[in-house]
Amino acid sequence: MDNCLFCKIIAGEVPSTKVYEDEYVYAFRDIHPMAPVHVLVVPKKHIDCADDVDETNSLYVGKCFEAIAKIAKAEGLTNGYRVLNNCGEEGGQTVMHLHFHLLGGLSFGLGLF
Ligand code: AMP
Ligand code: ZN
Repeated sequence: MDNCLFCKIIAGEVPSTKVYEDEYVYAFRDIHPMAPVHVLVVPKKHIDCADDVDETNSLYVGKCFEAIAKIAKAEGLTNGYRVLNNCGEEGGQTVMHLHFHLLGGLSFGLGLF
């Protein structure tokens, strides 16, 4: 995808702090961390947002969650963590390449936010 920041990060054209990579997934530290651990888990296939997940690409979503479990263990998040996806304008999505925020290292407590 031309002009997609996360495609450029995956391609190594924009620098990032990589924490995990496999055939399907690239994960790196968020540049503006909202928690002690804040990792963005990104499918290597360009998918705009959650709205565009379908039977042709859902393998990548499953692979993202396999990666999340591995990264959480590697980051020592033994007491839990939050996985967040923003979709579209009203969902607060700013980068239009599907990604999951893995947030850990603080207690979110109950409630949605
Ligand atoms: P969202 O608002 O869900 O689309 O999340 C986009 C996230 O990407 C934000 O948390 C940003 O801080 C993060 N971000 C933007 N540019 C970069 C970058 N170059 N490297 C790492 N994280 C970034
Ligand atoms: Zn992209």
